[in-house]
Amino acid sequence: MTGAVLRLDEVGKSYQTGTLHVDALRGIDLAIDEGEYVAIMGPSGSGKSTLMHILGCLDTPTSGSYRLVGVDVGELSEDELAQVRNRLIGFVFQQFNLLAHLTALRNVELPLAYAGVPGEQRRRRALAALDRVGLADRVDHRPRELSGGQQQRVAIARALVTDPALILADEPTGNLDSRSTRDVLALFDELHDQGRTIVLITHEEEVAAEAQRVLRIHDGELRTPAVSR
Ligand code: ADP
Ligand code: MG
Repeated sequence: MTGAVLRLDEVGKSYQTGTLHVDALRGIDLAIDEGEYVAIMGPSGSGKSTLMHILGCLDTPTSGSYRLVGVDVGELSEDELAQVRNRLIGFVFQQFNLLAHLTALRNVELPLAYAGVPGEQRRRRALAALDRVGLADRVDHRPRELSGGQQQRVAIARALVTDPALILADEPTGNLDSRSTRDVLALFDELHDQGRTIVLITHEEEVAAEAQRVLRIHDGELRTPAVSR
């Protein structure tokens, strides 16, 4: 199957804090196809996190529509949004967000546990995902027993294990040294080659340069025409 994984039409997001009204996103039109690797860049306060939260179904637009694999996200209840997040999206964060008391294997099993996948299948799929990111020999390590780069690879395994329609990465190399950054970018590159759909937020030009398409956001508006190269 090919076609749009996600589509935003005239998406706006505004916040009202006391008497202050902020239009964090304005008139965002965006379609991302299956298998695309897209970077989103923009200065601080430009709306990157707001856009990421909407793409990740952590928040809903105040105007316009967002469809993810054909589902109109604006129509969903909180429970349905949580299900969409669990089933369709793999998240990778700057701070890794691993649970400190769980081994790498248990961390990667978690989204499958939430999805109700039985124990033996969970273990098998988590081991395969950890092998996929080159950590087959670290499955019983806890996060503090792993380097930053290894922790981020565990987080990528956790994002992959549910076979999501979309991988969303928010500053995934923001806390990594240059060597780990290269490892993580090489991994995203391989995942892209294997047909994964990836959206990544970054401040760094050299990270964005790895993507197939770079979108720039300023004051809540997308500036670059959405053309693939
Ligand atoms: P970025 O991630 O690019 O730094 P954000 O998406 O976090 O930008 O913020 C965009 C704008 O929206 C900023 O002006 C910010 O102050 C405002 N904003 C973000 N989140 C909230 C919120 N929860 N309540 C009120 N204003 C917010
Ligand atoms: Mg931000």
